[in-house]
This record gives sequence, C-alpha cells and structure tokens, in this order.
Amino acid sequence: MIDQLADKVRAGERVSAGEALELYRDAPTALLGRLADAIRARKHPEGIVSYIIDRNVNYTNVCVAKCNFCAFYRPVGSPEGYVLGFDELFRKIDETIAVGGVQLLLQGGHNPDLPLSWYEDLFRAVKARYPSFKLHALSPPEVIHLSRLSQLPVPAIIERLIAAGLDSIPGGGAEILVDRVRTLLHCDGKATADEWLGVMRHAHHAGLRTTATMMYGTVETDEERLEHLLRLRALQDETGGFTAFIAWSFQPGHTELSAARLIHEATGVEYLRTLAIARIVLDNVDNLQASWVTQGGKVGQLSLAYGANDMGSVMIEENVVRAAGASYCMDEVEIVRNIEDAGFAAKRRSMHYEILGDPIFREREVPRMHELATARADGDTRVPVELANYPARSRVGKKRPTV
Ligand code: SF4
Repeated sequence: MIDQLADKVRAGERVSAGEALELYRDAPTALLGRLADAIRARKHPEGIVSYIIDRNVNYTNVCVAKCNFCAFYRPVGSPEGYVLGFDELFRKIDETIAVGGVQLLLQGGHNPDLPLSWYEDLFRAVKARYPSFKLHALSPPEVIHLSRLSQLPVPAIIERLIAAGLDSIPGGGAEILVDRVRTLLHCDGKATADEWLGVMRHAHHAGLRTTATMMYGTVETDEERLEHLLRLRALQDETGGFTAFIAWSFQPGHTELSAARLIHEATGVEYLRTLAIARIVLDNVDNLQASWVTQGGKVGQLSLAYGANDMGSVMIEENVVRAAGASYCMDEVEIVRNIEDAGFAAKRRSMHYEILGDPIFREREVPRMHELATARADGDTRVPVELANYPARSRVGKKRPTV
C-alpha cells in the first residue's frame, strides 16, 4: 500500500486525509524525504534555496491571551512588561537596513493599551521614513484582538492597516487549526481555527499575500496535524494567497503547558517527517521554509532534502523561541554556507519570494552579527513617551502619566 501511495505522489496526484495519514505514520523516513524532495525539485527546478534578510521584532510582550505554551508573554502590569517606542523601532530598522535587510517581521502580545491608532501611526511613520521597507506584521490573532478592541469588523481592520502601510500578514498563532487542540492550549479565546482562517481569507481578498504556520508537538494527534494541513490546503485552493508554509515544534522551556504535562520536545526525525508530509499534502503551496531557529542549523540544512526550498530569515533578533529555551543563531554567512554545502545556490529574496540577488556580503562589506539582539535589554523599563497619546484600556495603563 505504501508503494502505491508513493507512486501516486510521484505521479503528482493529490493525497486524501487517509492516504496522508498512512504515509505519515508508516512510510520509511528516507522514502518520505525522497518524495518531498522530488516535489521540491519539480516546483523549484533551478536549484536555488532562498532566504530573506529581515528582523523579527516583538513590539510588546504584554498579553491578555495567556496561551499555556507561551514563555514570552507577561501579564498587564508586570514589571517585566514592555512596549517598544517608535524611536527604538526606527533604530532597529536602521540596523536591519545596514546588514541588507528589507523588512520587519513585527508581532507582539495582545496589549489592551495599544489601540488601532498606535499601529496606524507606527506603520505610517515607518513608511514615511523608509518608503520601500516592508512590514510583514500582525498575525491573525493580533488582527482579531484589534477588531475586538476597536469594535470594528476584521475586514475594516485589515483595510485600515493596509492604508497605513501593512504589506503582508505572518501566519503566526495558527498552532494547530483544530478547536479541540486550541481549547487545551488555551488559545481558542484568541482565535478559533475558523477565525484564524477567516482573517487570512479576508487578507487574501484584500490583496495581501500571507504565510501559514504550524506549531506541532503539544497535545495534538497525528490526525489533527493532518487536519491542520488539509484546512490550509482548502483555503489555498480558494484564494491562492499563501506564499509559504513554516512548521516548528513546540519549545517546552518555561511554559505552563510543560509544567502541567510531561511533554518532550519533538525530535529531529519527527520534524523532518512532518516537513516532508507537509510538502506532499500542501501541493498548492510553492514555498516551504526550514525552521532552523527551533531545529538548529544542522537539521535546518537537512530540511533542504525533505521538501524545504527556503531557509527563512537571517536572525538578527529573536525573543519568543529564546524565552522557551532555544537560541540558535545564524547570520547571512552561516545561512549561505549551509545552503551551498547542501548543493544549492543561495539567493536573497523578498517577502513575495522574488529573487533579489546574490548574498549581500559578497556584494559589499556588511557587519557580521555575533550576538543575537533582543527586543529590550534585561532590566530596561523605559516607557515610550508617545504612549501617553493613546487611550489605555487596562487599569494600569489608565494610571500612566500623560504629557
Ligand atoms: S502566544 Fe502570543 S497570544 Fe499567546 S500568550 Fe504568547 S504572546 Fe500572547
């Protein structure tokens, strides 16, 4: 039966939920890799593996959602809570541009003291200073949070964010798009599976391209992982708006979930099998990223033989995965070395996966990054002055001094 399924995949036919489950559970890992690699080669015959130079900035860690798998958030009023000032964000963009960066991946907690106007003003200010710099910002749950906070429907929020400068929506907050799992992860309140998909549908209809993600390795079954992939495939059939898919494993360090249940981090083989089955199931998604941030550079490099055609982002800054204990770091030189050693040509790309050129360090002198930056240095408790211009919703925020 596995042989027949393998022939079906080789022939480029679509697999059903049951067939995908059989392959995922029973096919030898090497076979899954060969099938996924053949699809990757069919979709990307030029032998290029791309990457983007951008910066992953978390504008606030204050969050009311309290997902139990998250080690990053701080509750409202926590002395460790922060909101970045516009000036700090501009400095981060300057540093990103200095190393050849083209966009910010901007995500953060659901902070009740940041109204829609804060985001609009920030996006406008960024675009006024850096007109060609891209904003890949606000995952679907953040859009839903803004919709609830401002009592406006999701399409109106997306429209206003686009008018202010939003270029693309990252696929964060998807975890597993099955409500049984989301309830157990305490993330059904921030977005149900339908709500997450609904934001992406609206974004695609509004003309944005977005990414899709999956965080596996918590409480879900194999069937639920595949249901997640099938729901993404169905929306992609409908809109064609997903540029890429990224899977990563749950990072258990310092999380409420790992304290409550004994959950071991998924292994490298499980990651490679999950990536390969994603390449097979998501036959309508062109790009699959290697998640070396959670898996490390070596497994990240192996991903290129299991269906991935993109190495994601050069890491300048990381806060979320690091909070849960993982701190892998690669600058452009390292990423390119991994791609070329695996037998591919390394090319820089844009948010829309257009090739921008050869590695920037071969074109001009760029500073090497030896240390991974964080949003804020430990113990830095500055409150940005401009926050006084925005109406706060929390009791703590209302007590903030005004200018
Ligand atoms: S994962 Fe996001 S929404 Fe959930 S608690 Fe962490 S910061 Fe908040």
